[in-house]
Amino acid sequence: MPVHPLPARDAAADDRLLADFAELSAIGATPAGGVERQAATPEDGATRSWLARWLADRGFTVVADRVGNQFGLLELVPDAPYVLAGSHLDSQPRGGRFDGAYGVLAAAHAADRLRAGLAAAGRTPRYNVAVVNWFNEEGSRFEPSMMGSAVFTGLMPPETALGTTDVAGTTVADALTAIGALGERDVFGAGAPHTVAGYVEIHIEQGRELDKSGTTLGLVHRTWAANKYQISVLGEQAHTGATAIADRRDALYGAALAVVALRDLADRYGEELHTSCGRLTVLPNSPVVVPREVRMHLDLRSPSDALLAEADAALRATFAEIEVKADVRIERHVAHTWTGQDYPPAGVALAREVARDLGVSFMPVQTRAGHDSTNLKNAVPTVMLFIPSVEGISHAEAEFTADADLCRGLDVLTETLARMVEGALDRA
Ligand SMILES: [Zn+2]
Repeated sequence: MPVHPLPARDAAADDRLLADFAELSAIGATPAGGVERQAATPEDGATRSWLARWLADRGFTVVADRVGNQFGLLELVPDAPYVLAGSHLDSQPRGGRFDGAYGVLAAAHAADRLRAGLAAAGRTPRYNVAVVNWFNEEGSRFEPSMMGSAVFTGLMPPETALGTTDVAGTTVADALTAIGALGERDVFGAGAPHTVAGYVEIHIEQGRELDKSGTTLGLVHRTWAANKYQISVLGEQAHTGATAIADRRDALYGAALAVVALRDLADRYGEELHTSCGRLTVLPNSPVVVPREVRMHLDLRSPSDALLAEADAALRATFAEIEVKADVRIERHVAHTWTGQDYPPAGVALAREVARDLGVSFMPVQTRAGHDSTNLKNAVPTVMLFIPSVEGISHAEAEFTADADLCRGLDVLTETLARMVEGALDRA
């Protein structure tokens, strides 16, 4: 039974969402239709200011915590816990305009629609609502990804996040201060003024399951396992012309073999294993020097923990062979890993109920990418929703989702949020 009157199809609400999305997408816009707003850059700052203005204009209280997570608090019931709705506004370099930003904007619109609906009905819900923009979900400028939500859920100490540096040596603390986004204290949790009752996030799928099957809504019930590593391939600097081939300890040769080994591994397992090398830093990177060191970022993902462990072991064995063949040393530094995990079944059931009641087509999906909800789901009742990505394209300027899907996603998010503030996940 719905606990809240279902929103009528509202063409004006759709228009407002699309107009705001166009305005938001103009910040940090790239020529081919994407955006570049890496975490705590001036473009990220401009996006955050845009959101802050939008929220403040509609009566939300805007505040940032001490790692730059940005909240728009809507107090409906004094002293009651908050249901959070949001995603992230930061992007990859030359990223897509939908990844994360749609989820934050949809959350803001959902909260505003909910507020208006409750006021019109003269109804007081059980919980308050907060829109959230998690800091540094992408992990492109500062590693690792999902940083703000990791600190929020106690997975990373705030000092670790604040002391993290980008390639230029700028810390998160300094970068956040420079854009005026560093808060002074926690907003939620022990010792903070507010508590959390639940979390809901909507995001583009970044895969092709929904697009391929013509389905509007993905009910995210599980996340893939992932192993992400920073490794160094260590050789010896030498002259590219004069040094005998037999004497060379070419770090880039070793790194090249490692990149090929990674891809071969994925080919061996089919689509059950995704592998990648996303960044390669060559030292000293001079045209006439055999590289002494290559720093690499490796990424292995699978729906199966066992398969991922097997692939990881196979990769280590291959690395041992590469060390001999290229006469290099391969060192593993930072690791960011997570196992495959279920999303809370009660949250999946709630989203299914809402989709049915709204007459929106839906299917269960797994997420291959990490999301802030990956962290939140272990801490509070959580719902994760996907809308289609055309051709599954993401982290690229050609990322695209149709207007109709953006609007239906907002309807589902609004109704899900409406049921959560009435306590629909309290039994979970
Ligand atoms: Zn994202």
